[in-house]
Amino acid sequence: ENESSVSITVVGASGDLAKKKIFPALFALYYEGCLPKHFTVFGYARSKMTDAELRNMVSKTLTCRIDQRENCGEKMDQFLKRCFYHSGQYDSQEHFEALDKKLKEHEGGRESNRLFYLSIPPNIFIDAVKCASSSASAASGWTRVIVEKPFGRDSESSAALTKALKQYLTEDQIFRIDHYLGKELVENLSVLRFSNLIFEPLWSRQYIRNVQLIFSEDFGTEGRGGYFDNYGIIRDIMQNHLLQILALFAMETPVSLDAEDIRNEKVKVLRSMRTLRLEDVVIGQYKSHTRGGVTHPGYTDDKTVPKDSVTPTFAAAALFIDNARWDGVPFLMKAGKALHNRSAEIRVQFRHVPGNLYNRNIGTDLDQATNELVIRVQPDEAIYLKINNKVPGLGMRLDRSNLNLLYSTRYSKEIPDAYERLLLDAIEGERRLFIRSDELDAAWSLFTPVLKELEEKRTIPEYYPYGSRGPVGAHYLAARYKVRWGDLGMEE
Ligand code: NAP
Repeated sequence: ENESSVSITVVGASGDLAKKKIFPALFALYYEGCLPKHFTVFGYARSKMTDAELRNMVSKTLTCRIDQRENCGEKMDQFLKRCFYHSGQYDSQEHFEALDKKLKEHEGGRESNRLFYLSIPPNIFIDAVKCASSSASAASGWTRVIVEKPFGRDSESSAALTKALKQYLTEDQIFRIDHYLGKELVENLSVLRFSNLIFEPLWSRQYIRNVQLIFSEDFGTEGRGGYFDNYGIIRDIMQNHLLQILALFAMETPVSLDAEDIRNEKVKVLRSMRTLRLEDVVIGQYKSHTRGGVTHPGYTDDKTVPKDSVTPTFAAAALFIDNARWDGVPFLMKAGKALHNRSAEIRVQFRHVPGNLYNRNIGTDLDQATNELVIRVQPDEAIYLKINNKVPGLGMRLDRSNLNLLYSTRYSKEIPDAYERLLLDAIEGERRLFIRSDELDAAWSLFTPVLKELEEKRTIPEYYPYGSRGPVGAHYLAARYKVRWGDLGMEE
């Protein structure tokens, strides 16, 4: 095993994702000593580049975390020496054969394992998979392919993509990446639930009033809206990232921590969910807004977006899981671009204390008195629980405080990027954090009808100013289910 080699080919190496995420993550793994002794990284794309030019390009985005500063420059040089480049077309068997030849030279007769990371636009996925699998598969060890979203744009196109992939790959060779699953606090969800006595017993309709999954970005498409416009926020964030978090949050206890056991439970919970209905969705789009003398562009001011686009840049949705644990509990999702802040969080609002002795000390707003558990995925990773306590002093006034686990205070280590964990898992064959085909099907079937309806009706989104808290419709939707968005509270 020690003498086997791993070759990692980044297909689309000239692109944004490769530069921003993949090469830096590979370097961080190298720094930590997580890559096997014999590894080679190849960049593959159409752009013409020499090895030196690739190294130069890559070197600009490599960084060291605080805990990796020692010998950082030296390690970078060592890493870059293991990076090579091969220029070729994505649909050319011949060019992939040439790549295969180069890979073989580096593998030097050892058992070879090959990982292809497809960091290319979806319209060329299949061409690249076809060529990589038929002309550049590992002769002896494993061949795995990491695929980036989008996995289609509805049930049909997703199924067609899966079918096409399976012409060339088996299910266990396909690693569908959802980088939210590689985030520290998402991984921690199961630890929180299953290794603490005090959470799991409360994890049901009996004690939980609602669950909120919130994503917000404080910038718009900023000239890169071409891709986004074809998808919209529901496909870009909800159907994948937020739904994956929901599934992990709500699944039953898996038999073990094995990938198949966990994924079985995720599929089960997704299949227990009610198909999303149009009346349970609110969509929005940001418009231009001037503040403090600065004008922020509206979505359709982006030159890569059609002037009459009705693509949602914001959406809120109410989802339900029709099983014994979650019957009647609203799971509210909210996702948007160009909002007032950047964050991703899970909020769990618990029920009121029945017959609360202190109701009259709380004041009129009973909502303010319920416990809320917040898991902040980004930025400033944290877990905090809002509890009621007495204001110190002679009277009897209640206050809300946070029991707070702020990661930056508790741990001096910087948290690895999600791509590091996911790349390492793919190299090690750990599939727990990758999306299985049946999971993907179940996820699409929840959202596809509503997406079709919105598009067929060309539903006009509710416009909201750039930098605001989003359309007011989100509040009405929540109010219909007696929910108040937790992220709009004043007391944090
Ligand atoms: P990108 O920069 O647009 O494309 C990557 C490379 O693919 C380009 O450098 C280009 O290389 C080649 N390419 C681009 N358009 C092509 C076309 N029409 N035909 C053939 N080749 C083309 O993409 P990216 O932002 O790096 O993202 C890669 C993949 O990850 C995409 O599937 C994207 O949806 C997904 N993704 C990206 C992000 C992100 O943060 N950027 C996040 C999540 C998912 P050559 O011209 O040199 O061949």
